[in-house]
Amino acid sequence: MIDNSQTPKISFCITCKNRLYQIKKTLPQNLEDNRRLQEIVEFVLVDFGSTDGLRKWISDNFKHEIRSGYLKYFYTEEMVYWHASIAKNTAHMLAQNDILVNLDCDNYTGSNGGWFVILQFIKKVDIDNDKILNININVSGRVNPESGYSFSQFNFEERPLADVLSERLGYTVTIDNDTRAMTYGEYMQGCVKGEKDIIFVNVSWGLGIGIIIDGKIYKGKSGFSGEFGHISAFDNEIICHCGKKGCLETEASGSALHRTLLERIKKGENSILSERINMENPLTLDEIIAAVNKEDVLCIEIVEEIGQKLGKQIAGLINIFNPELVIIGGTLSLTGDYITQPIKTAVRKYSLNLVNKDSVITTSKLKDKAGIVGACMLARSRMFEGAN
Ligand SMILES: [Zn+2]
Repeated sequence: MIDNSQTPKISFCITCKNRLYQIKKTLPQNLEDNRRLQEIVEFVLVDFGSTDGLRKWISDNFKHEIRSGYLKYFYTEEMVYWHASIAKNTAHMLAQNDILVNLDCDNYTGSNGGWFVILQFIKKVDIDNDKILNININVSGRVNPESGYSFSQFNFEERPLADVLSERLGYTVTIDNDTRAMTYGEYMQGCVKGEKDIIFVNVSWGLGIGIIIDGKIYKGKSGFSGEFGHISAFDNEIICHCGKKGCLETEASGSALHRTLLERIKKGENSILSERINMENPLTLDEIIAAVNKEDVLCIEIVEEIGQKLGKQIAGLINIFNPELVIIGGTLSLTGDYITQPIKTAVRKYSLNLVNKDSVITTSKLKDKAGIVGACMLARSRMFEGAN
């Protein structure tokens, strides 16, 4: 059985020099807005974001073969998937001259891993190889963007992940933490309108923050800043995936929402997902978010409780940082007011009144595209900085 919860979220971006090739070469024939296909793109982006969409597509299309590994089918049928995915994202992204493509994989550097998917993608889109200047990949967990080491995910070799991928892909690769990339994406292309002191809260399967101080991303000494999810907040005996117990993330995150919902349904509470949890394939976070937005009362209650707990700790962040803007992003932000209202209420209750008057709390404008836009922007800025 595939465990969605363990699949890392990755965003991947290729930065091309200038405006290199036409969208019509890479987009499917059946897109509605042919006029826009004539536009020239500057960036090609590949998003290793939500796993749920791909798994559903695969299970719909390859019911009898999925067990032998889906990457194979992914390669052979990739254009089918890319078509669907590009069409879905076109309206949002073409305004920025970007193409978004969703890809997915469990294993990033193994012999059948995501690097190979990336390579296939590069071949498929027919980019002049000499003109790909930088690829930025967002990885969750502890990542040092300067040294290129990923410590929490894909940490299979002694060498930095960025070096391994650079070698396998044949292009310069930089990596960064996924939340930091989302923060940067939101800062560059999202809801930020000149604010310079910002906290971006990424409430997805895990919980992390991105910090912008005086207009600059704050990384900390080794790139490990923003591990908001692992502050000790509860005396709850729940072991966090970091190995400690009682972390904020154990009760205020997508994983907490998932776990709590299953527990409460098993205890006899009802939800539109009550029947769903008995099926063989595991319930996904996306399904729970959809249930919230269909006004499922149990799911809403749990999201509200998460919002309260999160808001209490965000109040602490506001006291410390005095930010001008607090952006709620990540998967749970897709529940809109269901999560932001309890956060705002808790912030009012628990932060210093004079301090919180300075802070506007808002939701991510880029939503589930924040990571990919951030990867794109980071790839570009790393290139211009001469970091490589
Ligand atoms: Zn933890």
